[in-house]
Amino acid sequence: MKLIGPFKQVVTLADLPLRGKLFDEQLEIIEDGGMIINQNKIQQIGNFEYLKSNHPNIEIEEIEEGQIVLPAFTDSHTHICFGGNRANDFAMRNAGKTYLEIAESGGGIWSSVQHTRKASEQELLETLLQRIDFLLALGITTIEIKSGYGLDAENELKMLRIIKRAQQQTKATLIPTCLSAHLKPRDFEGSNQEYLQYILTQILPQVKEENLAKRVDVFIEKSAFQPDESKDFLLKTKELGFEITVHADQFTSGSSRVAVEVGAKSADHLEATIDEDIEFLAKSDTVATALPGASLGLGEKFTPARKLLDAGAILAIASDWNPGSAPMGNLITQASILATFEKLTTAEVLAGITFRSAFALGLEDRGKLETGMKADFVTFKTNNFQNVLYNQGSLKAENVYVDGMKIK
Ligand SMILES: [Zn+2]
Repeated sequence: MKLIGPFKQVVTLADLPLRGKLFDEQLEIIEDGGMIINQNKIQQIGNFEYLKSNHPNIEIEEIEEGQIVLPAFTDSHTHICFGGNRANDFAMRNAGKTYLEIAESGGGIWSSVQHTRKASEQELLETLLQRIDFLLALGITTIEIKSGYGLDAENELKMLRIIKRAQQQTKATLIPTCLSAHLKPRDFEGSNQEYLQYILTQILPQVKEENLAKRVDVFIEKSAFQPDESKDFLLKTKELGFEITVHADQFTSGSSRVAVEVGAKSADHLEATIDEDIEFLAKSDTVATALPGASLGLGEKFTPARKLLDAGAILAIASDWNPGSAPMGNLITQASILATFEKLTTAEVLAGITFRSAFALGLEDRGKLETGMKADFVTFKTNNFQNVLYNQGSLKAENVYVDGMKIK
């Protein structure tokens, strides 16, 4: 057991509701605070001097002066296991080339598939661990990671096994998701339905057997999989015992409805979601996940986060870090920018990258500084927590803790 502090401000996010809009007045801010950590959990939070005098023999971990502390962040949507690089796609898109022209010159998701298939396991593992370290340094200690650049049994399993190996080498919590239904691969001979059937019979049983992932994702879009075939596929994955998440409404609407109907944990993207479907989503327990990094990478509009929150949805914000449409990876920068365009309160942004995004991954043991919660937290060298979003990502995390232990 130890007492950590004193912190200029402890921003606990305690007692904030899971869904809907939030006002900054709802934020609990403990000035000159401290936290008592027992094992890997938070035992007590309060005024540092008060806690100290009430526990005269407690071990004290003194914090360098002038820091605030927040719950560590959760990035609930990434594609950070990949080979190659798509800087040329980015340049071509900005130069006005179409999706088709980029694909024809060897770009697009298919190019990431080819590079990922070719890459050695060691190479993929090392680059994955580098990206995990980048996220950890931002204060992100829980990271969802998708497959989806293998697109056949051998390579999808390769990706998921690498994510499993990475988990043994990092303090971050990694949540793997099987995204074999990212796109029908060019070398698959058969229809979309046949490819989805292939995933159900040739990939998912092995994923289960080796306990490589508990979640399945599908990209529902005109260029990928259609709503009807996806719904059928998702219901079957559910029968196999998987949790579901969906890439929904990125360019065309209609698929967030499918996500809600099949009871998905989250529907991610939603840039094109129509008002009627916002209402539908808001009445469900499916988390609506905004991915501002994709809007910034593509120069497309943002997810209607304000409308979703006003309607009562559970809004999470994630990076979508991937080599094609979202190459930045800095969730703090992205969430801050989303706030300026969508007019989100500080409380809404912080909730969206902590307990609400954790909930999207089925994790309710983190994302708030409260008794009994996992002791993952991040400190910033500032007297005012508002500076974290105000600086739009340029104020770097000072220290990052996982299970009460300092890792950075
Ligand atoms: Zn994605």
